[in-house]
Amino acid sequence: MDNYIVSARKYRPSTFRSVVGQKSLTTTLKNAIQSNKLAHAYLFCGPRGVGKTSCARIFAKTINCLNPTADGEACNECESCKAFNEQRSYNIHELDAASNNSVDDIRALIDQVRIPPPIGKYKVFIIDEVHMLSSAAFNAFLKTLEEPPHHALFILATTEKHKVLPTILSRCQIYDFSRISIADMVEHLEYVSSCEGVTAEPEALNVIAQKADGGMRDALSIFDQVVSFTNGNITYQAVIDNLNVLDYEYYFRLTDAMLSGNVRSAILILNDILGKGFDGQNIITGLASHFRDLLVCKDEATLILFEVGASIRERYKEMAKRCSDGLLFKAIELANTCDLNYRASRNKRLLLELTLIQLCQLSSAGQPADDKKKGLIEPIASNGPGQAPAQPGQAVATQTYTVQSAPPLQRPVQSPQEMTGATAIPQAPPASTPKRVARPPQFGTSIKEIGVEHPKAQATAQAATVVQEIQSPFSQEALVHYWDAYASAIDKKVYLKNTMINCKPALQDNYCFEVCVHNPGQQDELTNNCIDILSYLRVQLKNTRIQMRVRIDETNQKHLAYTSTEKYEHLLNINPVLAKLKDEFNLTLD
Ligand SMILES: [Zn+2]
Repeated sequence: MDNYIVSARKYRPSTFRSVVGQKSLTTTLKNAIQSNKLAHAYLFCGPRGVGKTSCARIFAKTINCLNPTADGEACNECESCKAFNEQRSYNIHELDAASNNSVDDIRALIDQVRIPPPIGKYKVFIIDEVHMLSSAAFNAFLKTLEEPPHHALFILATTEKHKVLPTILSRCQIYDFSRISIADMVEHLEYVSSCEGVTAEPEALNVIAQKADGGMRDALSIFDQVVSFTNGNITYQAVIDNLNVLDYEYYFRLTDAMLSGNVRSAILILNDILGKGFDGQNIITGLASHFRDLLVCKDEATLILFEVGASIRERYKEMAKRCSDGLLFKAIELANTCDLNYRASRNKRLLLELTLIQLCQLSSAGQPADDKKKGLIEPIASNGPGQAPAQPGQAVATQTYTVQSAPPLQRPVQSPQEMTGATAIPQAPPASTPKRVARPPQFGTSIKEIGVEHPKAQATAQAATVVQEIQSPFSQEALVHYWDAYASAIDKKVYLKNTMINCKPALQDNYCFEVCVHNPGQQDELTNNCIDILSYLRVQLKNTRIQMRVRIDETNQKHLAYTSTEKYEHLLNINPVLAKLKDEFNLTLD
């Protein structure tokens, strides 16, 4: 183990040709050297581990090489090249600006700039992480950077270009290094494993490349880690175990469940994955990427975007044939919505399960786009073949609650909040009736139309399937009373509390009430919490058919806080303690 060198160092490129994944950039640099059109300052920027410092070193070596090759590479044989390769060249100075960022450090460097190189033509100064220089150091550096002696050449490297002063940027030729593609990385890893006498499955290397997220250095250090873990026999299974990566297999199984509308299977698979200790958010983002991969591998034109290893490609293509474009669009959207809501969700597992349920409904619903327009979702029980038959004695809610904002602010509502309506009461009406309810051809999108359709729809379904349902009548006053009671019991969700205090429900036909809110934020707040609110109201008012509809009041929603008083009112609305603060300190608004 004495002379063990990590792969990232051992396989550090020594010529432009051996730099991985930056071909166009290295070609440009080579051409500049060959045509002898060198700038005196370069800025290399890009994410970490993509070859910025390596390229800077190769560049320094090449412009000093005494016998450059015909294609513009360093010979690696002349005295200068040898000195570079053995790290004893006086023609290269590296400064790590992350730890040497003071004016004194820059002054010491400027002193060095004046002395011409003992051998070769150029003295190259590489300043790594240049954005870390203090502003005084930047300013001390400007003059030298603008008019350096002809033998001096600066290469600045940074991961954060936006933090470099514009005055510095304008004095440099800028090269943007890109993330290294998965294919390039896999190719290089294959090369390294063949040099190291390591056997590796291509799929395993693909996982390593994905995990490295565009950085070759990271990929090589993960590679080293896996090599020592597997004793030089890198298999896909060993890699996913070691790196805690979720197996593709799970995503394929989830997609299968989605296509067959098998909710139970999907939820069991989720349970299996969670049981292995994977984070829910990773699962859903992975699933979204999986759908995205399925989508891009459907078409030759987009196949270049497909970054999954060749061996599993056929399997993706096979599965992609079974999914329509519309289904995949919708699936990606659902997974993405779940990802966005994940952090805010209190019951994260439920959110994941709801998303899976919605995904499973996509294929059996047939026309997801229509459902979205109407903001309605079919009862789960009428969908897949693997569904439970209707249970006698179960409460029936034929119409899930709908969320509509007044046109033109209609928002897509195929999101978890909708599902909450469907799952709040377990329901199992026969397949035929609700289908008619959910999708009559003349069914429009406006509130008015839905309002008109409601009684008919419910009556139809009711006649066919009424089993046991509690339907005690209640008054507007009682509704507001329990609404307020719920609001006053909230202690943590201040925004929800204030929304409920400010926006009162208005009872309409068929035990459906409408809440008129002022902005989309309030609408989201109510819809995200509707499962809790409705459960409470249904119990208190002894009516299982209560539905909520949230509408944005058009006259109010454009009213934004412009004046100080309005802003104060708005903040007060969020945090009532402000009033006390204002009084105690005698603050005024102007
Ligand atoms: Zn040379």
